[in-house]
Amino acid sequence: STILVTGASGYIAKHIVLRLLQAGHHVRGSIRSPARGETLRATMAALVPEAMERLTLVPLDLTRDDGWAEAAAGADAILHTASPFPLSQPKDPQEVIRPAVDGARRAIRAAATAGVPRVVLTSSIAAVVEGPQPQGRRYDERDWSDPEAPTISPYSASKTLAERAAWDMVATEAPGVALTTINPGFVLGAPLDGDTGTSLAVVERLLAGRDPMLPNFGFACVDVGDIAEMHLRALDTPASIGQRIVGASDFLWYPEMAEILAAAFPDRRIPTRRAPSLLIWALGHVDPAVAAIRSSLNLRRELDASRARDLLGITFRDPRESLVDTARWLAAQGRA
Ligand code: NDP
Repeated sequence: STILVTGASGYIAKHIVLRLLQAGHHVRGSIRSPARGETLRATMAALVPEAMERLTLVPLDLTRDDGWAEAAAGADAILHTASPFPLSQPKDPQEVIRPAVDGARRAIRAAATAGVPRVVLTSSIAAVVEGPQPQGRRYDERDWSDPEAPTISPYSASKTLAERAAWDMVATEAPGVALTTINPGFVLGAPLDGDTGTSLAVVERLLAGRDPMLPNFGFACVDVGDIAEMHLRALDTPASIGQRIVGASDFLWYPEMAEILAAAFPDRRIPTRRAPSLLIWALGHVDPAVAAIRSSLNLRRELDASRARDLLGITFRDPRESLVDTARWLAAQGRA
């Protein structure tokens, strides 16, 4: 079968493309930058040279209409992973919201128009946990972030609104499209090449010891290979149609991540001190990156990922191992 993977040059997407090629699929990967397309091609040529005739690249931009019909034509499924994932939040939230929402709509519309029956969309726990903490249980697929919450980051709003737009479309104008969303926690694990995104930048920052004190916020973390596998298994699991599926393993505090890295890299003297929350509140007034995490300070938002286990048969890897893998990769590259 032929699978269109949007944003194929991304950190998670490359792990998906690799597994699809290994499983014998034809992959049409969409890219927006020819240079990143070249890196993707070189990476796959090194890892799965025998599969290169099954990999084609097509240009697509989330903010433009052209190319979608051609990209979707004849595909059996679309894995829509592309979405802006900036490290620091833009002043104008629409800078990330518009491409995320329009991109999700374009992906579903392209599927409907080309008669592609199946779409798996990469959403996020950012679309789950930015709402009221559930009473007496962990967050799960029933929970939705409130995109209007005063403290929500533009990125979390973008993921919430994009996922909602996709579900709205299949409920109304694109009833023939079977949708699943995968909602990953913070993704960790070695990338396949050096074109990497925000996930890696966070680990890079910790490993380089750039923060003398660490704000006490954290995320439910998950291994990149497990997330890639969830996308593939969703394609083969009819029971996942119409479902959101959280992909998350253990919750790690940011300072705890520093402690794990400090233990794995004893020569580096990685700072592990927690920053007083009041200091973070004050800094948030001047630094937008700090402002973005203020609303999650001291919040332990754990997720129940039993749907991924029960429906897709995923056994999640310990994210502490994925974290150390990421750091070893960065160190080997001389990047931190
Ligand atoms: P990357 O930044 O590596 O991947 C994002 C991808 O989206 C890239 O391929 C990027 O293209 C593409 N993209 C962004 N804007 C546009 C645009 N306007 N037009 C076309 N393509 C665009 O990050 P990840 O791999 O981590 O993220 C992949 C998906 O997973 C995203 O949907 C993200 O929200 C989601 N996710 C990630 C998590 C994480 O911790 N990493 C957690 C939860 C969800 P280019 O390569 O050219 O920049």
